[in-house]
Amino acid sequence: MKPLSLYFHLPFCLSRCSYCSFCSQTDLGLTEPYVRALVREIRAVGRRLKNHRVITVYFGGGTPSLVGAERIALLLAEVKNAFCCDGQMEISLECNPATVGEGNASQFVQAGVNRFSVGLQSAEDTTLKLLGRAHTSVDFTDTVRALRRAGAVNISADLIIGLPSETGETLVKSADFALKTGVTHLSAYGLSVEEGTKLYQSGYRVDEDLCADGYRMLVEYLKARGFMRYEISNFSLPGKECRHNQSYWNLTDYYGFGASAHSLLSRRRFFHSDDVSGYIASPFALVSEEKLSAEEEEQELLMLGLRTESGVSVSELKSRFGCDFMQKYGERARALAPYLIIDGDRVRFSDEGFYLSNALLARLL
Ligand code: SF4
Repeated sequence: MKPLSLYFHLPFCLSRCSYCSFCSQTDLGLTEPYVRALVREIRAVGRRLKNHRVITVYFGGGTPSLVGAERIALLLAEVKNAFCCDGQMEISLECNPATVGEGNASQFVQAGVNRFSVGLQSAEDTTLKLLGRAHTSVDFTDTVRALRRAGAVNISADLIIGLPSETGETLVKSADFALKTGVTHLSAYGLSVEEGTKLYQSGYRVDEDLCADGYRMLVEYLKARGFMRYEISNFSLPGKECRHNQSYWNLTDYYGFGASAHSLLSRRRFFHSDDVSGYIASPFALVSEEKLSAEEEEQELLMLGLRTESGVSVSELKSRFGCDFMQKYGERARALAPYLIIDGDRVRFSDEGFYLSNALLARLL
């Protein structure tokens, strides 16, 4: 059976952050009909994908913890009824501080969630306020403590690189604040200031040089504390990597349920519109669908795989796409030394190569 990862987009938030360009909205009255639409989609898709075995489930958003543990339990029960599921499924839930506490942390654990991703973004309360986040740094600590008391052992903190008034020092301070709560994983994505967001309208723009300096400091700080970088934006203690994200980077088949969710099944890529009401009315409507060629998939695997610490396997490229890496890319790859390393079966970036990954990928592909 083919491995399959499932993503659920739950687009509900307490308020709208100033940098948000995701599919999210604050009308919590739509939660119930939205979950009913998800159930319809699960049942229909489960009937079609009988040759797949679900290895990971990820509830993202939005603020998935807002929909409540009962509805998460219901969705998981529907998944187990509709799909063949691995006994060791990783089940992740994104949550924002102040939406999970003593009351519901154990309910989420009992519902089957075994990995939590908590959005800290920054440990500076003035920055959180400026971003319109509906929590403080203390709320983050309380949430992680509540989750740990409930028995959760896989907890990730999310940070953003490039926030207003952030420096390398404050970024590391935020990471330090998160690690002191006992999290086992940390994600740090660069801020993208999209047109139409309040932050864009304020005139704020990211300083790429400052971000690069901050990122370097963060990598050094995390390395010294045993957090290995296993992908350019993701760090974990050994064995605590996010298997769901690894599925994306390996191009394992994945199906996305809900508004704006993307899917990739046997080279067929498709996605739903980000119109939440439209999704409720018609959970099977797709806005776009394309079939990737073997060449496109091969390039995608190289692009995603090279952002991971272990890089890409040359023999896998051969067996999946019939691609002879050395024949096709060898000359350009050798010219990228010492930033790109060819080490037996693996092609990967060196430490310095990671800092230049976008430019190097553009030259390689
Ligand atoms: S919590 Fe996330 S999804 Fe919700 S408004 Fe803020 S940035 Fe957007």
